[in-house]
Amino acid sequence: MSDFSATKAMFDLPEGMIYLDGNSLGPLPKTAANHVENMIRKEWGEMLITGWNKAGWMQKPTAIGDRIGRLIGAEPGHVVMGDTLSIKVYQAVASALELNPDRKVVLSDSGNFPSDLYIVQGLLKSLGPGYELRVVDPEEVEANITEDLAVLMLTEVDYRSGRMHDMKTLTARAHEKGVVTVWDLAHSAGAVPVDLAGCNADFAVGCSYKYLNSGPGGPAFIYVAPRHAETARPALSGWLGHEAPFAFDLDYRPGRGIERMRVGTPPVIQLTALEASMDIWDMVEMADVRAKSIALCDRFIAGVEASCPQLTLASPRDGTARGSQVSFAFEEGYAAMQALIARGVIGDFRAPNIMRFGFTPLYIDEGDVDGAVEILAEIMKKRIWDQPEYKVRAAVT
Ligand SMILES: *Cc1c(COP(=O)(O)O)cnc(C)c1O
Repeated sequence: MSDFSATKAMFDLPEGMIYLDGNSLGPLPKTAANHVENMIRKEWGEMLITGWNKAGWMQKPTAIGDRIGRLIGAEPGHVVMGDTLSIKVYQAVASALELNPDRKVVLSDSGNFPSDLYIVQGLLKSLGPGYELRVVDPEEVEANITEDLAVLMLTEVDYRSGRMHDMKTLTARAHEKGVVTVWDLAHSAGAVPVDLAGCNADFAVGCSYKYLNSGPGGPAFIYVAPRHAETARPALSGWLGHEAPFAFDLDYRPGRGIERMRVGTPPVIQLTALEASMDIWDMVEMADVRAKSIALCDRFIAGVEASCPQLTLASPRDGTARGSQVSFAFEEGYAAMQALIARGVIGDFRAPNIMRFGFTPLYIDEGDVDGAVEILAEIMKKRIWDQPEYKVRAAVT
C-alpha cells in the first residue's frame, strides 16, 4: 500500500499554498536541490568530462526511461529520455508513417494539444504532396479509423477537460485497419495507470515536467514497442542514436532498439533532478495513485458544485473516464483563477473559459481539496473575481 503522507513530506511546497497545477509543472522534491548540487560539484566540477563514464551520465536516459516505464506499462529497455515532447512527437509520427509506406493520412482529434498538431502539420509538409492530417471530434475518432489511415495519433488524456480515450479499444481498432498508433501520455504518465504493453501500443511519448516533477524544461520520453524497435527508422538521426557514436563514421547506422531514438547529448542536470522525483515514484503503486486521485477529484467536484453554482463541470463526471484533473467552465474563469492564485490556490486557465485543477496524490490530500473549495466558494460568492487587477492577462496562463 502506498503511503501518501510519506510522499507528501518529500516535496518542498511553500507554506500556505495549495498547489493544484502539478499537471502543468510538478513541484520540487526536497532532495532535488542536493542531488543536483552534488552532481554539479562532485561530478561536473571534479570529474569533468570523465563523468560521462565514471558517473554514468550516458546511461541516464535509458536507466530513467525504465523507471518511468514501470509507471506506463512499458517493457524494460523500451523507453528513453531526451529532447522535448514536441520533438518526440515528431520522431514517433515520422517513424510510424514509415512503417505504413503506402498510406499518407494521420488521424488526430480536435482535443489534442496544439503542439502535437502543429508538429505533424510541419512534418507532413516536409514529406511532400499527398500527406494529410485529419482532425475529428474526440467522440468521432473510433468511427473514423479507416483503412486509408497510416497513423492514429492521440493524446490519451485531454489537456483541457481531462477526458480519456480508451487506449486499448482504439489501438485494437487501429490495428484491425492496419493503422500504426502514437499515444501522447503528457497527462497520463504519473496521472493514471497506463498499460502500453497490454494495449499493444506501437509508439508513445510524454513529458517529465508535469506529473513526473523533473522541473521546468525537463526532458521528454519515447517508447517504441519491442516489435518495432529494430525496424523503426529514426527520422532525427543524431549521433547518439548511432550504432557506434564514438566510431565517428560518416554514415548513419541506427543503434540497437530504443537507443536509436536518442538524438544528441542528454540534459544531465535535468535528468539528475528527475531522479530525485523518481525516488519518490518508486515508493508508490499506480493503482493506489489512481484510486486516491479519483477520490480527491470527486471530492473537489462535489464541494464546488455544492458551493459555486456559477461554475459548470467541464470534465467527465465518471472518474474512470477522467484523468487526474478537474476542469470547470466559467465565463470569467481567467479572473477567477487570478483571484485564486492571489489567495494561494494555484490552478491554471485554458482558453476560452476553462479553470483547470490538477490533483496529484503524491502531495495533495483531502485537507488541500477542502481548503481550495472554501477559497473558491468565497471568491464566487463575493464576486472577488470582478476586481480589475484580476483581469489583466499574463503571457503564460
Ligand atoms: C504539455 C504538452 C506538450 C508540450 O510539449 P513540449 O515540447 O514539452 O513543450 C505537448 N503535447 C501535449 C499533449 C502536452 O500536454
